[in-house]
Amino acid sequence: MSTKVVLITGTSSGIGLSAAVSAARAGFTTIATLRDPARADALRKAAEAAGVELDIRRLDVTDPASVEACVAGVIADHGRLDAVVNNAGAGHVGTIENESVDEVRKVMEVNFFGVVTVTKAVMPHLRATGGRLLSVTSVGGVVGQPFNEAYCAAKFAVEGFMESLAPVAATVGVTVTVIEPGAVASEFVANVGVEDNAAAQAGVYGPALANYLGRTRSAFAGAQTSEAAAETITEALTAGRPAFRVQTSEAARGFVVAKLADLDGSLVQTATSAWVA
Ligand code: NAP
Repeated sequence: MSTKVVLITGTSSGIGLSAAVSAARAGFTTIATLRDPARADALRKAAEAAGVELDIRRLDVTDPASVEACVAGVIADHGRLDAVVNNAGAGHVGTIENESVDEVRKVMEVNFFGVVTVTKAVMPHLRATGGRLLSVTSVGGVVGQPFNEAYCAAKFAVEGFMESLAPVAATVGVTVTVIEPGAVASEFVANVGVEDNAAAQAGVYGPALANYLGRTRSAFAGAQTSEAAAETITEALTAGRPAFRVQTSEAARGFVVAKLADLDGSLVQTATSAWVA
């Protein structure tokens, strides 16, 4: 019998890289995709160190042709697709008065429409195997966070999309799960690229942004490792029946529990207002 085939997006670093190695270690034929194959060195080294093989392919979630080509290639070469992990994503720090609508649109392109594009391309193949669709969202997909309007909007959108799709996909045998990390020590913060003088450039929002960035630095001091977050993904890939909503750490669970009990929004507003005060 052929092994199960999983495709993971955004595996050049962080959670995606660790998830690819972890899935391969768990016995999956693992298609580790990245938008720039020239950036696969860390992935190759991690696979070699773990003694696993990966099938590394190009896939840019914002380029539908690359998504179609990658999925078609996987089906041609492996004949099946049992699971997909929508992991690719990028953070963004800003507030609407200080940025353009186009900047917000770009954040939605990567974090939301990228997920939509991949999901549309893989659904027929997951249907054929009774497979699993996992999407890495964030606690920021449940709790709106200061200076994360665009990023949280995109992650909320993925949560809403997947929560709506889940019962529909279940009628054709596909299981849908969202994976919600809190702070994870990856390339995520560096890739956001907040300049040292960001607060000074933020006008009337400068003091609030400085407070937010200070609070974020301390939150990331206690971040879980990418490997730990990836273990939760592998558990959801292999569990008999994964839950729809899965957090990767106790800290993440704390966020989600608080939000889901916060009927009038005051609990979250009190907490997040303190981050910028
Ligand atoms: P990371 O190390 O920055 O990894 C993000 C990955 O996404 C990289 O491989 C990046 O590739 C890829 N990517 C970005 N744009 C892409 C595109 N257009 N097409 C394909 N791949 C693209 O950060 P991470 O923490 O592992 O992030 C993984 C996921 O976890 C993201 O969805 C993120 O929103 C989510 N998350 C992270 C945290 C955290 O604290 N780290 C918390 C909650 C949720 P390049 O190298 O080419 O840029």
